[in-house]
Amino acid sequence: MTRDIDISDDATVPVGRFAPSPSGRMHLGNVFTALLSWLSVRSRGGRWILRIEDLDPQRSRLEHARLIEDDLQWLGLDRDEGGIDGTGPSAPYLQSLRHSLYEKALRDLEATGLTYPCRCTRADIMATQAPHASDGRVVYAGTCRPEGFPAVRPKADSRPAATRIMVPDRDICFTDIVAGPQAVNLAELCGDFVLRRADGAWAYQLAVVVDDALMGVTEVVRGCDLLDSAARQIYLFDLLGFKAPAFAHVPLLCNQAGQRLSKRDASLDMGSLRRRYSPEELVGYLGHLAGLLPKPEPVTPAALAEIFDWSKVRRSQEIRI
Ligand code: GLU
Repeated sequence: MTRDIDISDDATVPVGRFAPSPSGRMHLGNVFTALLSWLSVRSRGGRWILRIEDLDPQRSRLEHARLIEDDLQWLGLDRDEGGIDGTGPSAPYLQSLRHSLYEKALRDLEATGLTYPCRCTRADIMATQAPHASDGRVVYAGTCRPEGFPAVRPKADSRPAATRIMVPDRDICFTDIVAGPQAVNLAELCGDFVLRRADGAWAYQLAVVVDDALMGVTEVVRGCDLLDSAARQIYLFDLLGFKAPAFAHVPLLCNQAGQRLSKRDASLDMGSLRRRYSPEELVGYLGHLAGLLPKPEPVTPAALAEIFDWSKVRRSQEIRI
């Protein structure tokens, strides 16, 4: 399975999206990702969607989603579709309102014969780690895989089951716009992965694929911490019969100690930044960090879109600020 994607050759109207989880106010790193996603499509006359990834009811708050919308508007990152009350062609744009679409995709994946119920607890999974997981990653050993795979421990059928999907033991290849060529063997990276958890919650990997596919997204721009999800998602796009989007996994903003900015860094959240800077100052600063501007001078997103080119964007995994 090989994909070489050159987005500049694609004749269709580019469709990008920003898909924040509303677990807090956006910080500078979130804005950096949103800006690059917006610039990429706007520089080519494309469309931009805001999708709210609120599948985790414990962490998601509607008031955070409202602040995200307000902050994007303040920055000048306008959208064509999406948001809390979005009524566009792919509505609704809150994942918590899209369960029936995930159900349908799960049924389609079940029909491939590649899914199976899994009743392993976290402790079971840790106790049966596959041999590849030397760097701390958790690789599912395939304990509950149907026949043809050694059952490590028989399972009682009474507990609720998660649904996993079998992965092939071969490379999935694609070219990330920022990170370059990738070859990922899912059997080594993660093993058979979860589509729906035993408590009924949808896995990010399934929901994001269903949404990007049904929303017609042609390019996914997000932080490089999600680079290792792309191969799982390409695998699901293929099984569901959708064309996978192009991927651009952009650097993460980190502090001087190399720690990734998080929603806990209150001084860099949008509430604090909006009190100290204008939208143009922030956009100019981020454009400079990205490698688009020689110095951090104030600029509007629209003016930055005119000079945007992926070839100028810094190709590191992190940018220290
Ligand atoms: N909701 C994810 C986050 O906020 C992003 C998922 C994605 O862009 O695919 O980290």
